[in-house]
Amino acid sequence: MLKKDHRKPSNAVYGSKEDSRQSIPPADPNRARKDEISEAHSFRRRALAVLRSRDFYLFYILVSLFGICTLIYYFDELIDFADWEAVRHDFFYGVHDVQRLFFFAPIIYAGYVYRIKGAVIVTIAALITFLPRAIITSPFPDPVLRAVLFALVAGVIGVLTGMVRNEYERRSQLEALVRSERDRILRMLEDMEEGVFIVGPDYRIRFTNQSMAKNFGEGMGSYCYEYLHKFDSPCDEVCRLPKVMDGTTERWEYSFPDGRTFEVVASPFVDSDGAQCQLATFRNITQRKQVELELIELNQLKSELLSNVSHELRSPLTSIKGIVSSLLQEDIEWDSETRGMLLSGISEETDRLASLVTNLLNMSKIEAGVWKPEKERRNIADIINETLEQQKWVHKDQTFETDLEPGLPEVYADYNQMKQVLINLLENAVAYSEEGTKVTVRARPMDGEVEVSVSDQGVGIPPQDLEKLFDKFYRGTQQRHRPGGTGLGLAICQAVILAHGGRLWAESEIGRGSTFYFTLPVAQPGDK
Ligand code: ADP
Repeated sequence: MLKKDHRKPSNAVYGSKEDSRQSIPPADPNRARKDEISEAHSFRRRALAVLRSRDFYLFYILVSLFGICTLIYYFDELIDFADWEAVRHDFFYGVHDVQRLFFFAPIIYAGYVYRIKGAVIVTIAALITFLPRAIITSPFPDPVLRAVLFALVAGVIGVLTGMVRNEYERRSQLEALVRSERDRILRMLEDMEEGVFIVGPDYRIRFTNQSMAKNFGEGMGSYCYEYLHKFDSPCDEVCRLPKVMDGTTERWEYSFPDGRTFEVVASPFVDSDGAQCQLATFRNITQRKQVELELIELNQLKSELLSNVSHELRSPLTSIKGIVSSLLQEDIEWDSETRGMLLSGISEETDRLASLVTNLLNMSKIEAGVWKPEKERRNIADIINETLEQQKWVHKDQTFETDLEPGLPEVYADYNQMKQVLINLLENAVAYSEEGTKVTVRARPMDGEVEVSVSDQGVGIPPQDLEKLFDKFYRGTQQRHRPGGTGLGLAICQAVILAHGGRLWAESEIGRGSTFYFTLPVAQPGDK
């Protein structure tokens, strides 16, 4: 339980005036004195700081200059007054106008430091300084007029000095602003993904950003024609700099000899020194261009294919229709030999048609991703022999040979797809060879694979065609030997062999023949 303090009245108001007066200790006279001293010190310090500041020095100089000029002006009166005969000199007696000239110094100085206002105030002060002598002691007839005229001329010069200084400072501020703005723009350009460079009217490069340096190397200070094209002089007609300097924005595409293509946009740019320059951005569009070119090529190939396919479809149909119409003619009696010839003609044309339709169908299945191999353990020699039997029957004028190593291991492959590959290779071998020449199919085991090759003694393939043969719709320079081809046969072979985990390639010698090789992995114990 708290004890009640009986010494204090219960209705006492804490924090009341009396209370607070009681709580503050009585003022210490020594301390107050100390405060006064320290306040005086700090005032002195501040006053000294102001007096020592640069502004005050400038003011001292002005006052000193003015004082010296006044002293020179009134020196003769001073000598008279002080009677300093020893320092008496004629100059201080007669030439008041010349003595006044000294006042140019403080007036121009005030104009320079304190601008127009300063010049006016010091001019008025100078005029006031001239007046006592002009009014009281001057022996000349029009002393006030002379003093006023001088003050006017000196004042105008002082004011002009102030104006020039103002203008100069405004210009430097503007220049600093322009420079900082330029720096800001350049910092932004620095990080751009596109290459950026600024070229002056003298073709010298003033700026390149990181991306530009990465694409073309460091180029600051060099000539643009040297930097971009390794030329000794400007690029004559193709150079866009003069047009851009005239204020137009130019856009063009430029392909460099190394195969890179850039989209260039060049616009006028005023640099911080006021020079009209060109700011150009370089966007690397090599990939886009390549895709565009490939698309154009593909479109051309597709339209070629369409006309080839329609021709290919129509020509066997026309011959079949012709033969059938002949056979149906009732008034003609066909002997059995002719009838047989006509019927085998129909058969050949039907095979051609079937092969074409099969290739087209297979290609669209591959494109749609639905032509998946149904693999099983197979003897490759059997597939080769079966296919060759059919081909021998279709191409009776060709000589087919086989060279199959005995005991070939089984492969894990889709029977129909393998047959299609062999048919395409054999048909090409026949199509690009003269009648009666030899077509040989070989097979041998090779490090966990079986290598199969189809060789002919035909026209051969030029080296520049070898790389592209397996592209879709690509028809080599030898295509005239097989009018109406589609350029799909080898692309299908490639897709099938890759789907089996094998490789496909060709070797050839112009005029001596070609060999197409493919490999298939040997069936593993787990493969069924
Ligand atoms: P196509 O034969 O319908 O033109 P392919 O894809 O089968 O299409 O062949 C592509 C190109 O490869 C052919 O146009 C031809 O130039 C070339 N080629 C293919 N096989 C041979 C070969 N055995 N001899 C010479 N050139 C060939």
